[in-house]
Amino acid sequence: MKKCLMCPRGCLVDREAGERGFCGVSNEFVIGSADLHFWEEPCISGTRGSGAIFFSGCNLRCVFCQNKDISREVVGKKYSEDELISKMLELQEMGAHNINLVTATPYSLFIAHVLEKAKKDLHIPIVYNCGGYETIDSLRSLDGLVDIYLPDFKYYDENLAKKYSSAPNYAEFSSKALVEMHRQVGKLTLDEKQIATQGLIVRHLVLPSHREDSKAVLKHISEILPANEVTLSLMRQYTPDFADENAPKNLKRRLTSFEYEDVLNFALSLGFDGFSQDKESAKRDFTPKFNK
Ligand code: SF4
Repeated sequence: MKKCLMCPRGCLVDREAGERGFCGVSNEFVIGSADLHFWEEPCISGTRGSGAIFFSGCNLRCVFCQNKDISREVVGKKYSEDELISKMLELQEMGAHNINLVTATPYSLFIAHVLEKAKKDLHIPIVYNCGGYETIDSLRSLDGLVDIYLPDFKYYDENLAKKYSSAPNYAEFSSKALVEMHRQVGKLTLDEKQIATQGLIVRHLVLPSHREDSKAVLKHISEILPANEVTLSLMRQYTPDFADENAPKNLKRRLTSFEYEDVLNFALSLGFDGFSQDKESAKRDFTPKFNK
């Protein structure tokens, strides 16, 4: 924490002393929202909702981010470790199928500490929901504490990763992270009600004008892990409403059905199973509202 290496950015800032790096997160938990969430994959949201805790700040800050309110500015309510544990237990009490730690990466080591204390009282799975830009060391600190990994795999092309997330080495780190996540939790398992209990689900959001990169991502994943070991969530929910003002023109439009279906067919041809989304998913309504 004296020289932060919690994610591949390696900012080396002293977060113990309150310094901030690329993610903007200091030495305390800042949470944008913590409530039941019904818009995750069906095996995560189930019928009673996922206990989603949205952490503020982000180590990717994509130009099209749909959670900009809390990814660009570290705003929200501050929580102590004990308050966070109480919130997790409260969500469990409310009937949440799981505790879903969203954009947890800049807090991963703090979270490991909290989970070590909370695990004995939590009887529902812990979901680590992230952008995929992780270090192996941080992931190892979560080994045995996280039940379900829900990472994105956003880009294969380094130029795209640089242009949209200022992370040209994104694919390199995400590939290693995916293999480590799979080593820890394995293939997705569901209970008798089709609710996830353990395993890996990889999300990929298809972007307008970039279906070839989407295909490269899928091909790459199938080369580093057997396709039948990975549950794929192929997302169609891109909406231009969130694109930065100066974002490239192609991000200012919706995805076409042709683009999405072309990528979906390619995923099926590689042997992936998992989740796809309807055209209606590309709506602002499915984005959580954050109270600053
Ligand atoms: S967690 Fe934040 S401060 Fe630490 S290396 Fe990553 S971006 Fe930098």
